[in-house]
Order: sequence, then structure tokens, then C-alpha cells
Amino acid sequence: MTGGANNKVMTIIKEIQAKTILSKSKVYKYVINPYLGCQHGCSYCYARFMKKYSGHREPWGQFVDVKVNAPKLLKKEVTHKKPGEVWVSGVCDPYQPLEAKYKLTRQCLEILAEKNWPVIVQTKSPLVLRDIDILKKGEAFQVGFSIATTDEAIRKLFEPDTPSIKERIIALGELHQAGIKTYAMIAPLLPGAEDLAGILAGKVDYVIMDRMNYNHADWVYRKYGLEDKKTDKFFYQTASKLSIAFRKIGLTIQ
Ligand code: SF4
Repeated sequence: MTGGANNKVMTIIKEIQAKTILSKSKVYKYVINPYLGCQHGCSYCYARFMKKYSGHREPWGQFVDVKVNAPKLLKKEVTHKKPGEVWVSGVCDPYQPLEAKYKLTRQCLEILAEKNWPVIVQTKSPLVLRDIDILKKGEAFQVGFSIATTDEAIRKLFEPDTPSIKERIIALGELHQAGIKTYAMIAPLLPGAEDLAGILAGKVDYVIMDRMNYNHADWVYRKYGLEDKKTDKFFYQTASKLSIAFRKIGLTIQ
């Protein structure tokens, strides 16, 4: 049992043996989740449905099962599965604080780079910079940062245990400079997202904007009087302004 990087509440950590690691995905061909659970515990996180597969009763963000055999499994699975795009990760942050100790994501990326499989890493943590040596090796590797706002005060309301936006932007810039394809995932669209084009310019190759299911974070919107920022009107107006701004600086939106 230990505490997360910024967590005020203790996180229950369990080392487990997974049965498989390279799973089929609806988003890309495969997805790898070296951890079940996420120390970042974002209020809007859709991945909290994973709780029911783990038997954990703790709130989302307060437990993590560590799949300590993930690299061993992957080594085997890449030998008999057809190569295809691998998403790292779908229902956890592959660079949540525990990755600094376990290095499971790093080891999995090493295996995928050796085999030259295309990889899409998605994170909120600058810890990904630790693995820039491997990311540069993979010919078709790309790294995306989830960034939903430019306003740190808003970030703290919705995702208090995540690295700051400033750190994420700096990390994106470093990766981009190192020649790695980068993108920003803007979802959900939180207040303060309006200014993202300015700070992402020159740091990403493309952006993804999505209207996520906000329902898990309803209480945050209510508690801080932000209900008008959860409406269709807010989403479409902000998305439209952002689209114009991104096109002006030559960025494609997916
Ligand atoms: S970082 Fe991603 S996976 Fe982790 S809690 Fe936040 S939204 Fe969920």
C-alpha cells in the first residue's frame, strides 16, 4: 500500500499476474494496459467501469493492480499475433506515478520497438520523457498528451492528481523536437480549452477533439457552478472556435 504522487488518499497497490496483455481494441487494432486502475483518478474518467473487473471497492483512483508479468506476456504475444497499431493505454495512464518504479510501460515499448510495431502512447505525465530513447527507436511511434484546458485552476477541480498543463506542454515540445510524432487529445472540453491553439502551436502534429461522456464529473460542474460549461452550446461554440484557430496554424483535427 502506498500513496500516489499527489494523492492525499492512500492508493491500494496490488501486484498481479495477467493472463493476456495485447488485447483487441475498438479504437486501434490492439491496446495494452500494464495497470488496472489509475492513480490520476480524473473525475470524468470513463475507465472507472474497470472497477467491476478488478473486484476493488475503493473509489476510482485509489487502487491499482500492477500487471507485473506484462512484458513477459507481450514478448510471447507479439510472436503469434498479426502486427498492428497498439494503443498504450486505453483504460489507465501508462505513465502514472507507479510506472517510475515498475517500468512496465518502458519494457513493453522496448519489445514493440524491436518488432517495429506502430504504437500510440497516450498520457498526462511528463514521465514519458524518461523513455525518449525507445520512442525515437520505434519508426511509427507517436505520443499524445490529454489536455482538456489551459487553466490550471480548472484542471485542479477536475483532475487534481495529474501533472500540470505546463509540464505536459513542455513535454510535448521536447518530444516534438526529438522528431517524435505528437498529438493533443482535447477531451473533455473543459472551460479554458479555448486558448489551447496558442500553446500547442509548434508542439503537435495534430489534435483530437471529442465530446466525452461527462456524467461522472457532473458533481464537479454542480459544485463549482460550471453547469453552463457542460452544455451542447458550450461544446459546439468552443469546438468551432478551436477548429478555426487550429486550422489557422496548419494543424489537422481528427
Ligand atoms: S489519466 Fe486517463 S485513465 Fe487515468 S484517471 Fe485520468 S482519464 Fe482516467
